[in-house]
Amino acid sequence: MTSSIHIQPFPGETVYSLVSRYHLLSANANESASYSALYSSNRARINAYLPSQLERTGHYFGLPPEALLWNHTLYPLFASFITPRRAQELKRAMFLNFGSHVGEKAGLPQSKLKFTTGHKHCPMCLAEDLEHVGVGYFRNSHQLPGLNACPTHASQLFCTAISDFSLDRSLILPRSDLDALPADNASVKLSRFGASVVQQLQTRYRFPDYRRAYRIQLNKKGLLTKNGNVRIRNVVPALKAHWASLEKLYSHQFECQDQLLTFEFVGPLLRAKTHYPTHPLKHLLFAEWLFDGDANLFWDADEEEQLILPGFGVPNVGNKHTHKNDFFSKRETRRRSIRDYMDEHPFAIRKDIKAARNADFFWLYHNDRDWLEQQLPLPMPPQRPKKDWHALDEKVCKTVKEQTLLLSEPISVSELDILLGGHRWLTKFLGNLPKTHRLIQDQLAKGTLKKVGQPK
Ligand SMILES: [Zn+2]
Repeated sequence: MTSSIHIQPFPGETVYSLVSRYHLLSANANESASYSALYSSNRARINAYLPSQLERTGHYFGLPPEALLWNHTLYPLFASFITPRRAQELKRAMFLNFGSHVGEKAGLPQSKLKFTTGHKHCPMCLAEDLEHVGVGYFRNSHQLPGLNACPTHASQLFCTAISDFSLDRSLILPRSDLDALPADNASVKLSRFGASVVQQLQTRYRFPDYRRAYRIQLNKKGLLTKNGNVRIRNVVPALKAHWASLEKLYSHQFECQDQLLTFEFVGPLLRAKTHYPTHPLKHLLFAEWLFDGDANLFWDADEEEQLILPGFGVPNVGNKHTHKNDFFSKRETRRRSIRDYMDEHPFAIRKDIKAARNADFFWLYHNDRDWLEQQLPLPMPPQRPKKDWHALDEKVCKTVKEQTLLLSEPISVSELDILLGGHRWLTKFLGNLPKTHRLIQDQLAKGTLKKVGQPK
């Protein structure tokens, strides 16, 4: 069934808020009736930042579930700091009716951090929304667990604790009778960084290689030894000093706040081999300090793929004078290389320049980025590829093979299609993809995939 009311989420609105607005606009007698219409169940509880049932919600409001997942939940943030396999499982739990698995897949129980559960809002954002769109709503960027400030207005967030007995399973919108209060500086800094990371994730649609990004910045700050070990004794006191004012704020909020602000988590977080999931708040506390608040640096590692650690940056040999001259002459040579290529190839796009002058490109990207940006042609807008069924068949077939290897239990073909992004390649368009079609038949016969309705 789909909604009879035409309702679309506001930019950055939470799924809970969208459903609340639907409920308030519908003629449904109570919450149960709205839940029944949406989920065919009269009992539901919608998490503020990791809601499940996105497939049904998307279908009901005529929205792609993938868009809900990336733009209206904190999936991008949580999935960034878990293994790719776990991220797939988290996505599946959020798309389907596995609400109870969502927290587990996101690694929440292991993090041992407890936060107030509820929906947060900023009174100043609310006042602006009432003026501009006539209704107040909950914003995704306010729901980061452990963050208490509005990144736009630097005011304290107010939390409607939905787990209160009377409010359990209610569908409500933010209260408009609250006065804005200024938030603590450190809290604002953390919230702004958190919101900026989420925004970067949504724009780039790609998870960062955070371990590499951390190492690059640690190395730049002289916090790696020659052997590549982290100087943890320098890192922890610096973090403590940086976040000193959070202590008061967090002391009444977290049950285990002491393990958070002692920064004991930093060691395991940086060790390459420990792969247990870490709560995003820990990464935000660490990375805001390490990156001086610049969320872009999470992706720096990608751009520098061509460089081998630790041999990048200004070389550390010779006396200061020659080393400086070396740097400038090297920079001039590299700049000339890029300029020459662009003169010879006036229609070259960024990708061509990067490919043709790879080493120079990455050296300048790292050491002289402002200059490089001024020279390069503007990035090309992403282009919609022409439908090439044969190429798509190859690609989908390969992805299906990879995906099915990751499954811990058989799923249906339509569930698998959702995992691939819900493009209906495996359902509606399967006839155009003969190779994939044969593979699916094969997987069904082997039992790696199950037919709908077939028991596990
Ligand atoms: Zn605000």
